[in-house]
Amino acid sequence: MGHISDEIRRLHGELHPSGVELVAVSKFHSADKLREAYDAGQRIFGESRVNELLEKQPLLPSDISWHFIGHLQTNKVGKLVGRVDMIESVDSLRLLDAIDAAAEARGITVNVLMQVHVAAETTKFGFLPDELLDYFTSKSFEKLKAVHICGLMAMATNTDDSRRIESDFASVAALRRRILEAAPELRGFDILSMGMSDDYHTAIACGSTHVRIGTDIFGPRDY
Ligand SMILES: *Cc1c(COP(=O)(O)O)cnc(C)c1O
Repeated sequence: MGHISDEIRRLHGELHPSGVELVAVSKFHSADKLREAYDAGQRIFGESRVNELLEKQPLLPSDISWHFIGHLQTNKVGKLVGRVDMIESVDSLRLLDAIDAAAEARGITVNVLMQVHVAAETTKFGFLPDELLDYFTSKSFEKLKAVHICGLMAMATNTDDSRRIESDFASVAALRRRILEAAPELRGFDILSMGMSDDYHTAIACGSTHVRIGTDIFGPRDY
């Protein structure tokens, strides 16, 4: 058995006792590599491009839980809704409304996470913490008909400064608590998806429930 299956087993052994879920980030990797991870017991896969996800899906077992983790353009929402278990990367209210409309039209419920921008980089997508707090304080989520907001997703600053990474993750966890104080009627707002290959230990220490790991499992990506 190769590196992929060894790494899946190692990560499951490390994460599952503490109840942390592993999202295997398989973007840019071929279906046979996903198959090796699947055969080692992995069931949640994260993809960041709509067409790539839709191409791989029919090549792989149907009990895979697909998470979309990339920037989603509103004109691609119709292709994705109904094909994934969770859209982790909702980064605008316009996108949220488009997902709600597409899900309602299809008579299904879509699980989403709201992406929070806490990193120092200006290029990362997501809501500012105060924008999200306003959204929940104003109870705007009550207008949603077919979307269930299950929690928050975030990326930390890309830096070697471990204190900055820790403070990014801690502020996401604090935001989740502030949102629940502002809207205690929210149900199932439980997920904190944070932590990647280089920083997942710190993310878990800050309360992450789902880590998104690509490079550690599948090796470097050929973009
Ligand atoms: C690519 C990607 C990851 C995985 O990053 P690695 O460093 O390869 O573990 C996690 N989250 C998101 C949103 C990504 O785009």
